[in-house]
Amino acid sequence: MKLSARVSRISLSSTAAVLAAATRLKDEGHDVVDFGPGEPDFPTPENIKQAAVQAIQSNFTKYTATEGISELKEAIIDRHAQEFHTAYRPDQVLVTVGGKHGIFNLVSALIEADDEVVVPIPYWVTFKDVVHYCGGRCVFVRTLEEDNFRVRSDQIESVLTGKTRLIILNSPNNPSGAVMSESELQKIAETARERKIFILTDECYSHFVYGGRRPFSLASLGRAFYDHLVVVGSLSKTYAMTGWRVGYCLGPPDLIKSMLKIQSHCTSNTSSISQRAAVEALRGPQDSVREMLQEYSRRRDFIVTALNTIPGVHCNWPDGAFYVYPNVVAVLKESAIPTTADLCVRLLQDAHVAVVPGEAFGTQDHIRISYATSQEQLAMGAERIRKFLGKTGQS
Ligand code: PLP
Repeated sequence: MKLSARVSRISLSSTAAVLAAATRLKDEGHDVVDFGPGEPDFPTPENIKQAAVQAIQSNFTKYTATEGISELKEAIIDRHAQEFHTAYRPDQVLVTVGGKHGIFNLVSALIEADDEVVVPIPYWVTFKDVVHYCGGRCVFVRTLEEDNFRVRSDQIESVLTGKTRLIILNSPNNPSGAVMSESELQKIAETARERKIFILTDECYSHFVYGGRRPFSLASLGRAFYDHLVVVGSLSKTYAMTGWRVGYCLGPPDLIKSMLKIQSHCTSNTSSISQRAAVEALRGPQDSVREMLQEYSRRRDFIVTALNTIPGVHCNWPDGAFYVYPNVVAVLKESAIPTTADLCVRLLQDAHVAVVPGEAFGTQDHIRISYATSQEQLAMGAERIRKFLGKTGQS
């Protein structure tokens, strides 16, 4: 079948592929430890669910304004102001069908053939594919494991050209968990502003930072930066609402208007019911966010410690999100397994543990493990990995 060049440039999300393979095994009755999904294992908090029930019962079940209901836009503005001392107006907000949709709208509105987009490695898969879909060129910047995968401002500056249109930042990062320092982020923002380059700052994991760090938004740097900054936020991870599909973008009014145009011909508004639930999430008690953070912090301590006792595995301490990104190159060298993609297939088939290969995120030596799963599953999965690698090392 002849398909568009656009769609031929992209592939099915590899994290979705792992999810599908793990689901197949589970459906066959196997007991799979699933470290694949990037989603909280916590239920959506009760007050949020009740707001949705209320929306249905009061027949709030029709189309809404494409950009989202004013009540929600105001709630997003107020929460952001409270947490990050920002000052956005309603014409600078677009409510989207999850953060991913916001990224798609933004890149579609901004990027055309041969525009360059700076993307640090390791990257979340969607960044690369959305840029390619829109005809842009990714200029990759490889972060270093010894820098704990934090991208440095000098690395970004060294690849900027007259064609650079957009820099994509994602702190806390998926897959590495890296959290950039405020000073380094400021340097990048200043350079981008001077050179009139846009920054997409994906802050979907902003609430999940550990070791006493405080959540940070690039928009906290002040209004002087707003003209070239688009914050992508999401309720998916913060409030355990992945299925509800609510995200948002904060950016310059003209750009938001263009993104709205695209959205008006594509998804229209996100679900009216989810929007009411989102208002409750943002305006209601925030205890559940704090509780999840504490639990993730405990799990991070457990899994990093456990992985570092497995011969051939080296795992950095991530400062945020809910992923670890251990280096397994020593395992590959000692076994007959050529790549991390092959290793992940074997781990799933032979040990029934689902993890995502580093190739999906632009690196060759790592695997991504999500610790958004119970302590019991973490312990069982780590033990299965230890046993499996112990056997492959001897083969
Ligand atoms: N950004 C990053 C870095 C992510 O990891 C994800 C989801 O995994 C998203 C954005 C999108 O999440 P959602 O579309 O559910 O808001």
